[in-house]
Amino acid sequence: MAFPGKDPIIVAGAGPVGGLLALYLAREGFNVVLLEKDKTLPEDLRASTFHPPSMDMLDRLDLMPRLIELGLIVARYQYRDRRSNEIAEFDMSAIKDETKHPYRLQCEQWRLNKICCEELSKIPNAKVLFQHGVVKVIDQDADGVNILLSTPDGEKTMRGSYVIGAEGANSMIRQSTGLQYAGFTYPEKFLVASTPYPLEKFLPRLAGVNYVSDPEEWCVVLRCNNMWRVLFPTKPGETNERLLSDEYIQDRLQHLAPKQGDFEIGHRTLYNVHQRVADSYIAGRVLLAGDAAHINNPLGGMGMNGGLHDAFNLAEKFLAVRDGKMEAKAAFDLYDRQRRITATKFVQEHTAANKKLMEEKDPDAQKKRQADFMRQAADPVLAKKFLLKTSMINVVRESYTIQ
Ligand SMILES: Cc1cc2nc3c(=O)[nH]c(=O)nc-3n(C[C@H](O)[C@H](O)[C@H](O)COP(=O)(O)OP(=O)(O)OC[C@H]3O[C@@H](n4cnc5c(N)ncnc54)[C@H](O)[C@@H]3O)c2cc1C
Repeated sequence: MAFPGKDPIIVAGAGPVGGLLALYLAREGFNVVLLEKDKTLPEDLRASTFHPPSMDMLDRLDLMPRLIELGLIVARYQYRDRRSNEIAEFDMSAIKDETKHPYRLQCEQWRLNKICCEELSKIPNAKVLFQHGVVKVIDQDADGVNILLSTPDGEKTMRGSYVIGAEGANSMIRQSTGLQYAGFTYPEKFLVASTPYPLEKFLPRLAGVNYVSDPEEWCVVLRCNNMWRVLFPTKPGETNERLLSDEYIQDRLQHLAPKQGDFEIGHRTLYNVHQRVADSYIAGRVLLAGDAAHINNPLGGMGMNGGLHDAFNLAEKFLAVRDGKMEAKAAFDLYDRQRRITATKFVQEHTAANKKLMEEKDPDAQKKRQADFMRQAADPVLAKKFLLKTSMINVVRESYTIQ
């Protein structure tokens, strides 16, 4: 393909964002190279919630039937007060006229990464190179970008017409281009543990996704792959060793659902939580997407989803340039505005507010918060308004109105 030049588009990072972007571009006939530093795709315990607009986008690439087969459809989700046992339950069928997928899909992100890589392997104009880690961007000129890679055969250089940094929060592409990643890191870490124990026995009417408030310890309880995944905040200052210990995790689970004997524990992950956005998603022929461009706390499940929306928006801009509808600079500047303003104005604010709400310790404020959720869940007009916001439908629509 003539545009964007004789060199391929290089996408760094075979996570959900890089994988999807590479697949979209390759299916459209662009020459694409997807670089992954690891030997194989990691199967880690990270994002597990796909929101409706992300699924509508994935559907355009025919990926939804396989993802649905591997995941769990959650049509109702809850905000519950553990003390009073009051439940505000939102039924996502309220947004059935606004999306083809009026539900959340609980499915681990690595499953999408695998599907994307499998699909890419069927496309002759696409290459996926494992054990090819980006070390840095060397330089760029009017036609392309040179990057340095670390491979099992030593360091190599590669040239792309465009290079997209989708290699996560520690993006070497972002760092070596000098783009700032302003924001902050929360003092506490989040712990995620999974268990096959039927928590629904202790917490009746548990839905597939549950935000559980408690003045002593809030948590998020999610169903995924026949396990319950529970996300807890931890206290700053505790060592990683202690937070990941059986004793600590058993205590947390016992606090949530007291029972005789220990819980069987599946995965456990401890991670830092940040709120950061790059000061620009574009530096000449270098572009950023996904966690490389923005990162936020996981409350609301907007990190990966926002990254998937970046991937679609950016792929559409490549198509607009190829089809002569836009000049390259104007197209990529527009991508930067649409996606960066959205990340800064909505996702950062919304996720930070979610965390504040969950952490509320004052019983009166907590009561008021629960009553507010229940009022909205019970009123069809308010419930729809709430769901259009939390399912990210509004924010995706608004991003496309930015000029
Ligand atoms: C515990 C947890 C729970 C979460 N839950 C949710 C959720 O429910 N919903 C949600 O939307 N988000 C959630 N998130 C956030 C979500 O996981 C991320 O936003 C998402 O992974 C970002 O995808 P990405 O493709 O941009 O980056 P990543 O998933 O980080 O992928 C980057 C890829 O690049 C590779 N790589 C790294 N460095 C290099 C290099 N130098 N060269 C080449 N390759 C490189 C990595 O190996 C990796 O494969 C959660 C995060 C965590 C930690």
